[in-house]
Amino acid sequence: MRELYLKTERGVDMNTKICSFCEKPAHRVNLMIEAEHADICDECVFLCMAIVINKLKEEWPNIKKLMEQVEQENTTDEGDK
Ligand SMILES: [Zn+2]
Repeated sequence: MRELYLKTERGVDMNTKICSFCEKPAHRVNLMIEAEHADICDECVFLCMAIVINKLKEEWPNIKKLMEQVEQENTTDEGDK
C-alpha cells in the first residue's frame, strides 16, 4: 500500500518535494521545510520536538524545572488579563 502510494505520488511529478522522514508529498502537509539534501514536514517536526523534549526531560532534570517555570509564568500572564 505504501509502495503503491509512493509510486503514484512520485510518478505524477518527480519534482514534488517529499518528506525525508514520513515520505508524504508537500501537497499533503501544511508546511515542508526544505534543505539541500533532505526535507521535513511540519508533522515530523512536531514529532521530533516531542521526542527531543521527552529525552531532555529524562536526561536533564533542569529542563523540567525550566518548563514548569515557563508554564507558571504563562498562567500568571493569563490571570492578569
Ligand atoms: Zn514528514
